[in-house]
Amino acid sequence: MMSNHWEVHVIEFARSKDQPLIDLVNGAPPSTVLDLPFGFVLAQNGGKNVLIDTGFLNEGSGAEFSRKFGIPEWISPVRMLEELGVKAEDVTDIVLSHAHFDHMGSISAFPKARIFIQKREWLSWNEAMALPPQYGFLTAIINPDNIRSAFDAAVQHRLTLVDGDKDNILPGIHVRLGEGHTLGQQFVIVETARGRLLAAGDCIYSKLNLTGHRHDGVFAPLNNGIGSIWKQLETMDRINEEIAGDMSRLIMMHDNDRWAHLPLVKEIEGFKILKAS
Ligand SMILES: [Zn+2]
Repeated sequence: MMSNHWEVHVIEFARSKDQPLIDLVNGAPPSTVLDLPFGFVLAQNGGKNVLIDTGFLNEGSGAEFSRKFGIPEWISPVRMLEELGVKAEDVTDIVLSHAHFDHMGSISAFPKARIFIQKREWLSWNEAMALPPQYGFLTAIINPDNIRSAFDAAVQHRLTLVDGDKDNILPGIHVRLGEGHTLGQQFVIVETARGRLLAAGDCIYSKLNLTGHRHDGVFAPLNNGIGSIWKQLETMDRINEEIAGDMSRLIMMHDNDRWAHLPLVKEIEGFKILKAS
């Protein structure tokens, strides 16, 4: 019988170079630059291999997006999963935090997976893509080929549109609408042997978002969101409440400490695989 305790790994698959922190976190010193890591999560339980986000494929339009956003370091997410003994066709489910190319750009590599995305995320990008070119800022990080792949999954009845907060989309995996970075962003709560872990999507880029620049607890908003700052801060408040101040339960997909608080399982060509629970 399946318990609700998932085994969780964080997998690094890419890094940007000398990226100004202020592009990401409002109020950061303009001189601070970092090599931002890109990660996704594998959660396993009772024969289920669940990805929270997928990384992107560095080929075709994916490679163009990678160049456009300055991401020189990359390893295949599929290769990294194989290092953990998981073949692409064995991925059963994918929970997408949002539709940016660096989070959903590999869905076409997992032909059997059921994909969960917020209904609002899916519908809002379909709407935004149809806007005139002067609205291009909204969709700058959206790769239309990824949306096409998700539509193919919809035709195959593999795309599940989640409408807001929902417990147990799979037993022990819960999603919460976290509007702000995008309109239908969701963060994901996973029940594990060490309690509930929270995969934050891009609701949070840095601990600074939660602690504030002066460590006074005044949330710092994002500088790359298309939703309102008000909603971003409400989402940060929800996340803060959910982890009850315990940062060790927070999994940030772009953790600039490269998940230093988690034990290293292995390192492949400089990219880390870490055990979160
Ligand atoms: Zn994003």
